[in-house]
Amino acid sequence: MAVPKKKTSTSRRDQRRAHDALKATSHAECQNCGEIVRPHHVCTSCGHYNTKEVVKQKIKAANSAEDTAEE
Ligand SMILES: [Zn+2]
Repeated sequence: MAVPKKKTSTSRRDQRRAHDALKATSHAECQNCGEIVRPHHVCTSCGHYNTKEVVKQKIKAANSAEDTAEE
């Protein structure tokens, strides 16, 4: 097994880790309902993409009933 000849210094270790930070994911607003959606993905709340309904919502009536119950 290959073994490192020298101990990795804290400086060199931290330089390697300088690029490891996670970046915040990008998002866009749904043009139909205004929900925050992933870019280039169908809206999960209303099923629209590029102002057209792509996925039909089966539980639309149930969702609206829940919305009125919460208010
Ligand atoms: Zn939407």
